[in-house]
Order: sequence, then C-alpha cells, then structure tokens
Amino acid sequence: MTSANPTKRPTDAASLDSDLDLPSELLTLPWIDPHNHAHTLSWTDREQYALAGCQAMVMIASGAHWTPYRPVEAEDVRYLWDDAINRRAAIERNHFYETKLGIGAPTRIRIEDPDALFDAMEAYVALDEVVAVGETGVTPAQHVSAWPVEEQRAAVQRQMEIADENGLPVILHTPNTGVGEGRSYRPELGVPGYEKNVSLGADPVIDAANPELEAVRIDVEAAAAAGLDEEQIVASHADGNNLEFLLEETDCYASFTLGHSWMTGVTVADVADAVETYGPERIMIDTDCANILRSDPLSLKRAILELYRLGIDVEHIRQVVYENPASVFGLGDS
Ligand SMILES: [Zn+2]
Repeated sequence: MTSANPTKRPTDAASLDSDLDLPSELLTLPWIDPHNHAHTLSWTDREQYALAGCQAMVMIASGAHWTPYRPVEAEDVRYLWDDAINRRAAIERNHFYETKLGIGAPTRIRIEDPDALFDAMEAYVALDEVVAVGETGVTPAQHVSAWPVEEQRAAVQRQMEIADENGLPVILHTPNTGVGEGRSYRPELGVPGYEKNVSLGADPVIDAANPELEAVRIDVEAAAAAGLDEEQIVASHADGNNLEFLLEETDCYASFTLGHSWMTGVTVADVADAVETYGPERIMIDTDCANILRSDPLSLKRAILELYRLGIDVEHIRQVVYENPASVFGLGDS
C-alpha cells in the first residue's frame, strides 16, 4: 500500500481504512435517566448530568436510607416526598434538564401504618412534576424490622392501583442478586455505603429457591390484581436473574442500572446482549445515583458510547436511552 503520509517510514496510520463512518451524533444524543436520587447528590454531581447532555431525569423520592428514625413511620416517608418536591425546581433551574419525580413507599424497612401514607399519596401523584409511582416492590429481607410478604404485596398493590387510577407508570425496585467485586467485604464494615449496623438485618420473609426472582413475580401478580398494564411497569435493576422473566413472560420494561456496577456486576455488555437478544423496544438504562453509595452520574453517557463499540446500532441506542423513557414517562419531546 502506498501512503501520502510524509512519515519517514510507514506507520500504522498508513494502512487504516479512511472511510470509516464514526457516529459523531452520539456525542450530542439526548438521553434521559429514568431512575436516580439526584436530589441527594451534590451540586457538582448534578452538574455532571448536564455537562454530559442529560435532557431529563426522574428523581425517586423513596428510600428508607434517608429516614433517620427506626422503625419508619408513614410521616417519615412523607417527609422524603416533601423534601424532593422542595428541591426539584431549584435543581431544574440550576442545571436546565427536565427534572421530574417518582413518589413511592420503600419496602427495605417495614413502614408503620402505611395506609396513612397511601391516603396522602393520591394528592401527590396529581402534581405535574410527579411522573411515576415508585420505586417500590416486594423485597426478600428488611433492615431493622421484617415486613411480612403479604403486607408488602398489599402495599405494592395499593401503590399500583393509585398509579393506574392516575395514568402513571410504576418504577419497580427489583432485588439484585449482585455479584459485585467477586469478594465479600469485611463483615464489620459491610458493603460500602450501606447501613453499618448489619446486626439489625431481619430474617428473610420470602421462602423460595430464588427469592429475588420470586419477589418480581409477586410484583407482577400484584399489578394484575391492581389492573395495572404491564407496559406501565419499568422494572429497574434488571439483571441476569430476572431479565428472561421480564422480557419473555411479561410486557414490562427492563431498566439496567449502571451507576454502581461495582456492586451489582451489571455492565454495558449486559445491555448490549439484551438489545441483541430481545430488541430495544422494552429496554432502558438508569443510573440510580444516590449519596448513600459510590455511584457515577456519567455512567449512562459512557454507556451510549460503549454500546456502539459493542456493536449496537445508533437508532437502537437512541431508543433505549431516550425514546423509551420519553414515551413511558412523558418526558422530552414526547
Ligand atoms: Zn433507586
């Protein structure tokens, strides 16, 4: 091969294919994070989303990690909702991305008198800024105080009924099996970022060979009982343990959480495999970034570029990171 390069002797550059069509549109592709807790992050963390081209996000005001008292009472969770409502507009005005909310009851700790919460929830979901109910979903084991599975299921179903009555989707928290770093952390320290008093962990409430998958099955049954269409469910924290069930046996969306892969073991390669196997129609990506653990606001943007390198078409990437969340949550141009 002859080269016009003026290099003294041939370099690798002389034998490169010069007509490669690189996907520069991915650099400015708009994207939506359909599940994070950005109201708990720092200003600088939230700025990362803006710098990386985030167009919209759903901040989840649900998570017992941020309620200070144990046991958790209904009004503690309501405080989380009010706190997120209070911060939301400032975040939108500071960073320019569309900032919406998910309102839900966590199941990681049993909530005392949850019906008081659900009675109040009806008025919250009527707000324009609330675009989803959740995250919620049956959890195999609780911190501090066990929540019997039938009571959890009733709490999840009640929230699904409220979502259905108000035409809102539900963000499901699906329990991750989590392979993480491949080693266990010191028992006295536990997983970085989580509760340190692990001695307060309650006994599991789901007795099944695969409790994490059983929890998702119970959630889907609860949706049927609530009359909520499965297309209105976005199952977050999708992984190899629940993906086949979600995409083959239900009409739910599966959202891969990539903001803390160090803990879950779920990577961009899993997303690429899923798009190739099932198509992009019911797949999303979220960051789930929160101040309680090491998490990466740039993970979704990074995944956009990596999916292309891993062989996924630009239009399929766009569907996963923008069109699917835009249409389900009514964000962006939808
Ligand atoms: Zn979350």
